[in-house]
Amino acid sequence: MLTGPARPIHSAHSVMKSVSETPVRVRFAPSPTGYPHLGNIRTALFNWLFARHHGGKFILRIEDTDRARKVEGTEEAILDSLRWLGLDWDEGPYFQSQRLAIYRDITRGLLEKGHVYLCYCPPQRLETMRREQAERREPPKYDRQCRHLTEQERAQLESTGANPVVRFRTPVEGETTFNDLIHGAVTFKHDTLDDFILLKSDGYPTYHLANVVDDHLMAVSHVLRADEWLSSVPRHVLLYGALNWTPPQFAHLPIILGPDRARLSKRHGATAITEYQKQGYLPSAMVNFLALLGWSLDDRTELLSIDDLIKHFSLQRVGKTAAIFNRDKLDWMNGVYLRQLTLDEFVQQAIPFLDRDLPESVERPLDRGFVGSVLSLVQERARTLGEVPELTRFFFEGELQYDPRLLLAGKLEAPEAAEAVAAGMARLLQIQMWDAETLEGTLRPLATELGISTGKLFGLLRVALTGRTAAPPLFQTMMVLGKEKCMQRLERAAQLLSAFSGLEA
Ligand code: GLU
Repeated sequence: MLTGPARPIHSAHSVMKSVSETPVRVRFAPSPTGYPHLGNIRTALFNWLFARHHGGKFILRIEDTDRARKVEGTEEAILDSLRWLGLDWDEGPYFQSQRLAIYRDITRGLLEKGHVYLCYCPPQRLETMRREQAERREPPKYDRQCRHLTEQERAQLESTGANPVVRFRTPVEGETTFNDLIHGAVTFKHDTLDDFILLKSDGYPTYHLANVVDDHLMAVSHVLRADEWLSSVPRHVLLYGALNWTPPQFAHLPIILGPDRARLSKRHGATAITEYQKQGYLPSAMVNFLALLGWSLDDRTELLSIDDLIKHFSLQRVGKTAAIFNRDKLDWMNGVYLRQLTLDEFVQQAIPFLDRDLPESVERPLDRGFVGSVLSLVQERARTLGEVPELTRFFFEGELQYDPRLLLAGKLEAPEAAEAVAAGMARLLQIQMWDAETLEGTLRPLATELGISTGKLFGLLRVALTGRTAAPPLFQTMMVLGKEKCMQRLERAAQLLSAFSGLEA
């Protein structure tokens, strides 16, 4: 494994500025082992904001060295998610699987200096060890058998053709302290660590090795990542020491929990970020929302544009305690951003959702002018673009399917309701103009004449015209539906009501 020709460490060094100038260089380093979810993308966003705030660089690095856990399609999903949110990267994507020679070279150097050793323990032995440790309720830890092999023993093992892994020779005594920009000083005792693996028997590096090597070679100045990685820092710091490299600055971001303070699950929103795109959240709203998962401007301000975020983002205002994911807040915020769009922009954004989700019976392509009239009535109400087709379906459909009992939801008796619909139709047939004002001027007095409340009459007409009890304002709805469709739907409601009253012959 370590016997190939030695290659120069890497040219990345020469193309990058030296760390001594400490320009801000941060990276997002996801593993393609699953679709990126809220937590992953929050990490990407904080790195991106930090880079943009400081005029630094945002590097994208795909940590694809765990071949067994790799999930097809997730690399693309990572890039798509970043692109959707506008988190543009300045360098990369780098792929660690294309940099194997670098990690092997570095390992060779470590071996020569005695910082690492070859371990020949077969997987079964390690498995048994782990099981026994678990039974004794001890943390899993390699027993360091191969750390003490004699030359002779090693030669003997080599001759059996065993394929070793490379382990780090972790100091047994003492302790190390590092500073985390969010958590402050963190001290760990060396005896809590084990001799972790750097290079696996398949020649691939582990996360620890590849991550440290790349952060150094890519001149990363700050490592901003989720809290769950804090426990890896001790190993990384020791490795930086062995390599005689200065570690970057660390900042570990608070975990994101559900409203019930449990770890984010699918139920809460641990779904792929691309799902939010499919459900019709706007990238601008998503960015605003994600930025507030662990960071705040002043504990009050909720609405911040990308420019505001870039201007104000700082690690000082990143919290230590868990951030709570609140779906209602996301919906509210998305609604705010939807209302900020011009009607034209709203139409532009909503059309793909209408195309996708309106019933097949609705003729395509949709008429853009008509869509504009319809959407002007729901822009105030929609929380997501995904809701728009359902909110507006009745505008596009031909004959409506609804439960006829809805026509009596306003507590009118069926004969009374039938009479009201018939009277309404008679009046509407007479009018020349079909605008909201004329419609209102015609129907309001009718309620008085019929001796029923406007609420009951309008409620009845709303069901007849839309098939539902809640819809956009009645007269505007009628205007957009047009006279012909309105008359057809009233006619149908009249039939349904007469069937109810048993009046039908
Ligand atoms: N590859 C790790 C991940 O999947 C990166 C952790 C880090 O940023 O160091 O999140």
